[in-house]
This record gives sequence, structure tokens and C-alpha cells, in this order.
Amino acid sequence: MTPTRLLLHTCCAPCSVKCIDSLAEENIRPALFWYNPNIHPFTEYRERRDTLVKFAADTGLELISNDEYGLRPFVQGIYTKDATEFADKTPQRCTYCYRLRLEKTAARAAEAGFDYFSTTLLISPYQNHDLIHSIGEELGEAYCVKFLYRDFRPLFRAGQAKARELGLYMQKYCGCIFSEEERYT
Ligand code: SF4
Repeated sequence: MTPTRLLLHTCCAPCSVKCIDSLAEENIRPALFWYNPNIHPFTEYRERRDTLVKFAADTGLELISNDEYGLRPFVQGIYTKDATEFADKTPQRCTYCYRLRLEKTAARAAEAGFDYFSTTLLISPYQNHDLIHSIGEELGEAYCVKFLYRDFRPLFRAGQAKARELGLYMQKYCGCIFSEEERYT
């Protein structure tokens, strides 16, 4: 049987731990994809990126990196792009942020001949899960590469615990400078 080729957008190493374990139970060994221009400031971005680089090396998983620290275009983007859809309780910037990262992943997956793409954001109980799912499906159709949807949320706590055991860097806020402010005020 041909193995499933999955490009897994990876928001950070801790969130990826249990997604990878769960996929392994389905005999899926993903390639990880780093593209997170939403993480600020630079020292935080570097810490999360370097943690994933080391984690990927330790686990022997392929890591494809689109290494782009994007403070300026990100801030500009959330104020200029129309991101009003699903603007219920989710900040408009998050809609923009999900789409930005998932679109890059879908495009890369299509270009590199992957069968599927997905994201570790699906493990977080703090994100708008249904919105991520919906954007993923839409982009899958647009880029002709299937979105692999899984509800990893029940594994979140166990994943965080395992990440701590592994000594991975654990971030204290979602990523953007706005979420950092909200975390500490
Ligand atoms: S809070 Fe998180 S998901 Fe929302 S815009 Fe900031 S980094 Fe992106």
C-alpha cells in the first residue's frame, strides 16, 4: 500500500507531539511544515522555531521550513485584508492568521505532490476549531490537495505533559504581539 503523504503545518513542537503520535496509529508519518509569521517578537519566534528544528531532528521527521519572521506584513495584513467572515467571538486577526498559514501549507503541499495537508492547530482547545476546519476544507478544494481533518483536542493535555517531559520550550501565549499583550494584562 502506498503510504499517505501528509504535510502537517506545525505551529510549535509541543502541539505537534500528540498529533504525531495519533497519526502514527494510522500509519501516517507526516512531514512537518514550519510557517508561522504570526509569532512575535523575534526572540520568541526563534525559540519556537529552533525547538521544532531540534524536535524534528530527534524524532527523525522531515521538516520543511518556510522561515519567515513576519511582524510587519502580519500587522499590515490584519488591518488591510477582509477577514470578517466567521467574525463571531474570534478576533478578526485570527481568521486572517489561520488562512495565511493554511494557504501557504496547501500551496506547498500541492506543489510538492503531497496527498494531504493538515495542521497541529487542530489540537488546541484555545483556537476556533470549526473555523480552522472550514478554512482547511475550502483551501483543499482551491489547491486540489485534500485537507486531513482530525479532532486532536482530547489529546491536548497529554500532549502538553509529554512535551514538558521531553523538555521542550513551552510558550506562554498564542503567538502575535496582540496575544502577548492579552496574556499579560
Ligand atoms: S491570537 Fe493566535 S491565532 Fe489569533 S492572530 Fe494571534 S497568533 Fe494568530
